[in-house]
Amino acid sequence: MGPGPSCVPPQVYAALARPTIGHLDPRFIAVMDEIKSMLRQVMQTDNQCTMPMSGTGSAGMETCFVNLIEPGDRVLILINGVFGMRMKDVAERLGARVDSLEFEWGRPVEVEAVREKIDQADYRIVAVVHAETSTGVANPAAEIGELLKDRPAIYLVDGVTSLGGMPTRLDQWGVDAFYSGTQKCLSCPPGLAPVSFSEKAVAKLHNRRSKVPNWYLDLSLIVNYWQGARRSYHHTAPINMLYGLHAGLEVILDEGLKTVFARHLAAHRQLIEGLGRLGLEPAVRPECRLPMLNAVRVPPEVDEAAVRSRLLTEHGIEIGAGLGPLAGKIWRIGLMGHTARPENVERVLHALQQAL
Ligand code: PLP
Repeated sequence: MGPGPSCVPPQVYAALARPTIGHLDPRFIAVMDEIKSMLRQVMQTDNQCTMPMSGTGSAGMETCFVNLIEPGDRVLILINGVFGMRMKDVAERLGARVDSLEFEWGRPVEVEAVREKIDQADYRIVAVVHAETSTGVANPAAEIGELLKDRPAIYLVDGVTSLGGMPTRLDQWGVDAFYSGTQKCLSCPPGLAPVSFSEKAVAKLHNRRSKVPNWYLDLSLIVNYWQGARRSYHHTAPINMLYGLHAGLEVILDEGLKTVFARHLAAHRQLIEGLGRLGLEPAVRPECRLPMLNAVRVPPEVDEAAVRSRLLTEHGIEIGAGLGPLAGKIWRIGLMGHTARPENVERVLHALQQAL
């Protein structure tokens, strides 16, 4: 019940244990095609260029930036937590001229400030983290997308924590490059990073003046394995991890996206209500709270690390600590994917009561 990995359902564990076949076996190609189609449904996009990268969520982040940045490009990163900071680091390493717009940790990105900033320069990429796992804040991804419509900038969104737990409407929001990870609301072990590029992003990739400066994550090469009638080897696909993702996506789509999102919200409300009974307060305002990552203020008289340690050793429950300026000030309780169930909320509330 921390910030990920989340609990893994039995269907995913069963899929991981199935026989490993070859990465060019026609039966495996069929599995890959189903994964792409299911990812599009969960991401609410028609983007043809949608596939899982080998690596964790950060590999998804690197994939988006490394394929889309050319040295000297002006990039704007909206930052209100750890993962926005990581985006800045990644973009700077690629030789981009990075500007950032920073907001207080625990507060959302302000759309008006973004509007003013994008009028000041010709940004090639504007990037934001949809669900800031480090603070529990939902950023206004749809509204930022609205600002960027009809502008040349590529809109790049981190959906590591949001995908599969709340709506991520890529096409409706005008998202051009999106990445996620498997270990949060997709309820799989860590190890894959689903990414999606719009036609605009694919065109930018094709029109590059220079080669993508990373062979492993070069989408112009990887598409030859993931797309088309004839597939060719790029790197050995992590076969069993992909079986796991296939099963995780099936679980979500069988339940239905609407029901899945409602289950996350219901678990979140149950948690907030129960925390209130224990005298604990959420650290984030109601209008921008994430359902799947709940930041809770640590009361001043409480040793936050001791509570986490008792939860783990006495109750077998992991919750997360605060990061950066929020270290020691908040706990982070994850209700991601298969974890977002009423019995888990009951258990963590009971354990917290005992520990406190
Ligand atoms: N972005 C967000 C919002 C995250 O929460 C995380 C991980 O927690 C990452 C990126 C990086 O993903 P990973 O740790 O899987 O590389």
